[in-house]
Amino acid sequence: MTYSEDEILKNPLYQSVLYELEKAGKHIGINRNVMERLKLPRRSIRVSIPVRMDNDRVQVFNGYRVQHNHTLGPFKGGIRYHPGVNIGEVAALAALMTYKNSLLNLPLGGAKGGVQLDPSALSKAELEALTRRFTSELSPFIGPDKDIPAPDVGTNSETMAWMLDTFSLESGFSQTGVVTGKPVEIGGSKGRSCATGLGVVYILEKSLEVQNKNISEATIAVQGFGKVGLHACVEAHAMGARIVAVSDRSGGVYNPKGLNVTDLINYVGANRLIKGYPKAKSISNEDLLALEVDALIPCALDGVINSKNMKSIRAPLIVEGANGPTTPEAGEYLVNNDVLIAPDILANGGGVVVSYFEWVQDIGWLFWTEKQVRDKLKDVMYSSFEKVWNFAEDYPDKTKGKYKDLRLAAMGASLMRLEKAMKLRGQAW
Ligand code: GLU
Repeated sequence: MTYSEDEILKNPLYQSVLYELEKAGKHIGINRNVMERLKLPRRSIRVSIPVRMDNDRVQVFNGYRVQHNHTLGPFKGGIRYHPGVNIGEVAALAALMTYKNSLLNLPLGGAKGGVQLDPSALSKAELEALTRRFTSELSPFIGPDKDIPAPDVGTNSETMAWMLDTFSLESGFSQTGVVTGKPVEIGGSKGRSCATGLGVVYILEKSLEVQNKNISEATIAVQGFGKVGLHACVEAHAMGARIVAVSDRSGGVYNPKGLNVTDLINYVGANRLIKGYPKAKSISNEDLLALEVDALIPCALDGVINSKNMKSIRAPLIVEGANGPTTPEAGEYLVNNDVLIAPDILANGGGVVVSYFEWVQDIGWLFWTEKQVRDKLKDVMYSSFEKVWNFAEDYPDKTKGKYKDLRLAAMGASLMRLEKAMKLRGQAW
């Protein structure tokens, strides 16, 4: 085993993803060779990125792009800028993209990238230089029909605009389809910026329905107030839900009567973080996870619901806006204790679904209206929920709780599509 394989396999998030893969594969009897092939990513790219900082000194950052599987189509997945980024985490997130894209019936494989840094510690000029150099390093491996990056934690539409520009400069012509999640003015799709949050809310709505509740009467707590959490709050509020608690990395706020989301967005716009918001009680991120609400929606990082805090969770529903927020141990404990979990590869799929719409518009020179995008997204999210729910009925698990293990069902449905495609292509058979 090479050094880097070992580094990947030892990562806790990668181990969790492998655990879920093996569990689902065994549950529905996926071919052994297919399982073997999926255990390690197809290609892991590691680059060092020198950046001349504002003080004129050169600092070198670690960057990664892991291409997990492309049986179903070009590699697809976001780019993360965060101090915790490492090859193992990126590989785990790339594998999750493979399973997410397969589950959502997209003609796409799975990838993920990242740079180990704290974006709030760099100036805009430094971030631009870093992004451009990172894109140059990746340019032999990415492209509209090879691998299509998108935003993730710590990156945004501006990052994508720099990537698009650098890649196009190197190609000698403009290639808008090389990234998704870019500004609408340069080929982005209407409805992309709110897509992950909106998709989370469609899955929230369906999950509440099976618990005989209506979103217009539901109370929710949202961890994370970035690209996913903020839009989940806005969209859930528009559908009548009461957002009683919200947090970011600085801490959280709670008001049992419901928070004024617009006011909170304005406060964060002016002060960058939630900390100090005067119109609600301050709470910690741990307090938020333990609130008695109809739904808990973790929209930040992985591993936040784990063996240490699983017994304090009081919400009967968890909708995973983040990738990997619940560890396998905590997930199994909660499902066995009557908690319904809408898993990440289903619940946060709205982002990559609209990324796919954006890519289709780019390569077909099309422009869809926001209504078209939202309607199509709703169809995909509702039908994916149904697919997972029915799969859970068709392949019953041994869960002792009130609800089926939807993560097992989602992974199962995803693996079944991948297995068929791998068989047809003569891969790993
Ligand atoms: N970063 C998002 C995710 O984890 C979106 C990926 C994409 O649009 O390619 O699903």
